[in-house]
Amino acid sequence: MAALELAAAGCKRHPPVTRPASVAVVPPAPAAPIPAAAPVDRPRRIKRVVIISEDGLRPDALMNVLPPVHAEIMKHAAFSLQARTIRRASTLPSHAAMLSGFDVKQHGLYWNSWKPERGYIQVPTIFDAAEQSGMGAAAFVGKKKLEHIAHPGSVDVFSRSGYFCKKVVEEASQYLVDKRPQIEFIHFSDPDDLGHSDGWMSNAQLEAVRHTDRCLRTLLDATAAAGLDRDTLFIISADHGGHGHNHSGKIKEDRLIPWIAWGPGVRAGHRIVSPISTVDTAATTLWALGYPPTPGAIGRPVLEAFDPETIAASGPSRTGTLKGFLKPPAKSSDEQSSSSLTRSPPTSF
Ligand SMILES: [Zn+2]
Repeated sequence: MAALELAAAGCKRHPPVTRPASVAVVPPAPAAPIPAAAPVDRPRRIKRVVIISEDGLRPDALMNVLPPVHAEIMKHAAFSLQARTIRRASTLPSHAAMLSGFDVKQHGLYWNSWKPERGYIQVPTIFDAAEQSGMGAAAFVGKKKLEHIAHPGSVDVFSRSGYFCKKVVEEASQYLVDKRPQIEFIHFSDPDDLGHSDGWMSNAQLEAVRHTDRCLRTLLDATAAAGLDRDTLFIISADHGGHGHNHSGKIKEDRLIPWIAWGPGVRAGHRIVSPISTVDTAATTLWALGYPPTPGAIGRPVLEAFDPETIAASGPSRTGTLKGFLKPPAKSSDEQSSSSLTRSPPTSF
């Protein structure tokens, strides 16, 4: 029975991990199954959000390879293969949008390298929300430049233990289990690196997708063993795609990204039809944890990913004590008026 039917019938339990027959998405995975998002007693409660960004991962690369861990997750997740990053489809600007809910003109990180003299992102981020409420946030990345997104003090840990995902995920998994931050961001460089060197959709790049799949298993095995999968929302996405040996954002292959949500209260095996922008990742994270939306942000929670009961039990009214905890976005001299803050239309490629 589909999740929505169970909800409508007043079912008290999280639905079994079946999906509507009309939503055929992925073939059975050959690997040992990973645990499905665990049922939780209502009110359903997402206590933490873990965002995994697979740098440069095109949705069609993911589906071409369909590595076993991703495939198994997607059976139990709500997902879109048509999500899009911002027009400035480079690693630092895109991740800044993903983690703040603002486009580049507002968040201010328009460059794509580590330039410490330029300071930090000019708008609040999801890290600020967690840290200012005393819940803790952490980031484990493969690229130093992403530190521009973490205001000093907004994360308890910002670590770049290695470039490729193996070392990053080992450290990220250990920290997640030990410290249990409310928000943890994990960044895998592998698909982007092999895309630049060997070309997007090349055999080498597709092998990098398999590599990140193994890194993802490391994370999920650790969280399952610690029981964290019961109350953790995982969002798996990317900062951009690519074509040839690069990515500019001019064409859809650069801008299409996967967006996968998995955890308690998420609709299992649901292909999301509503448009998703990478800025919605920040908004969804804040919403799922009960924070109010960031003033001025253009991201919106991807409510279609969640079952009706979770939607009813979530949102800022659930906590209601954090109003005003975020400072408004900083004004810059060349900042455009707020009327220019619009989500890109689906046909803007
Ligand atoms: Zn990137």
